[in-house]
Amino acid sequence: MKETIKQCFSERFGTAGTVYASSGRINLIGEHTDYNGGFVFPGAIDKAIMAEIKPNGTDKVRAYSVDIDEYAEFGLNEEDAPRQQWARYIFGVCREIIKRGGKVEGFDTVFAGNVPLGAGLSSSAALESCFAFALNDLFNDNKIDKFELAKIGQSTEHNYCGVNCGIMDQFASVFGKKDNLIRLDCRSLEYEYFLFKLDGYRLVLVDSKVKHELVDSPYNKRRASCEHVANVLGVETLRDAELADLEKVKDSISEEDYNRAKYVIEEKQRVLDVCDALEKGDYETVGDRMYKTHEGMSKLYEVSCIELDYLNDIAKECGVTGSRIMGGGFGGCTINLVKDELYDNFIATAKKKFAEKYGHEPQIYDVVISDGARKI
Ligand code: ADP
Ligand code: MG
Repeated sequence: MKETIKQCFSERFGTAGTVYASSGRINLIGEHTDYNGGFVFPGAIDKAIMAEIKPNGTDKVRAYSVDIDEYAEFGLNEEDAPRQQWARYIFGVCREIIKRGGKVEGFDTVFAGNVPLGAGLSSSAALESCFAFALNDLFNDNKIDKFELAKIGQSTEHNYCGVNCGIMDQFASVFGKKDNLIRLDCRSLEYEYFLFKLDGYRLVLVDSKVKHELVDSPYNKRRASCEHVANVLGVETLRDAELADLEKVKDSISEEDYNRAKYVIEEKQRVLDVCDALEKGDYETVGDRMYKTHEGMSKLYEVSCIELDYLNDIAKECGVTGSRIMGGGFGGCTINLVKDELYDNFIATAKKKFAEKYGHEPQIYDVVISDGARKI
């Protein structure tokens, strides 16, 4: 990828710049916990966006996307927003830096990536983090701290791309470290690295390639349930509630609200359990909690779908150590922790059985936990 970018940059701009990269991410466990003040547990992966960049002495950005094969040129004022979606991510990052009092001047760039788009690995966060990191290095003497870089990416999604996301994706992309997952406390924003060295195991995503479009805004309904129960319990978010508290109010809330809250409270504990287990190298417990998360997402939080439940069942049948839906739900990938010796059979079985039932093979993505934003 780097060679292609370098060649392309030199042909287009007749010079050479500095190369930066940032990664997509997985989340091992901790789903629908962010807006409840709980924990998430992401890591950056070996699939990244890479960009060569050089200041050009003008007030314009000239950008070429290798993968989409499109060129865009835009200024740095609010009214200069480009038309192409991919360019809006770059423009947004520039604007968010400027809005925070940082400096961005015109630059030339060529970029490419291998984070699958829209598969739940956050290619958009990789793109934002790559440029946020680079522009901090090139124009701001690295004075913008890493958390702010992640927030610049998040604000880009909010203000320039119409996606009202949390901080996890950009956080993981900026802070990612090889062989480490990062537990982020979404209440305090404190974080801690945990060694995740998969001796004898592999991490693989199985992408169902289905996406159920839902009409009645299921996320908002679940958020409302969580907020309602937190209210009844007199706490700010469900982070501050325990199962015993929930039992006490069981009769005064609906069964649905009870189930939603139960999932969230249990999921908080599961993330902590997984971190403890990792410190002991106990991957069996890690896997067990992944299965329990899947079950909770399916039965209590009700954000699974038949295709993902089927992939989860196949994983179980094949002896996979841990498997669960990754992401918000209603489609997308499962994330699977698989022993080396079971890997081939699991993948072959999942492809075959899924295709027999749903008419297409799932897409397989092997992932390795890698560094996040960096200069190459
Ligand atoms: P994801 O879940 O992968 O983040 P999004 O829809 O949020 O999916 O972001 C995908 C968008 O990010 C693409 O439509 C494109 O605009 C931009 N993007 C991601 N990767 C690339 C790439 N390699 N080249 C150009 N644009 C990219
Ligand atoms: Mg995205």
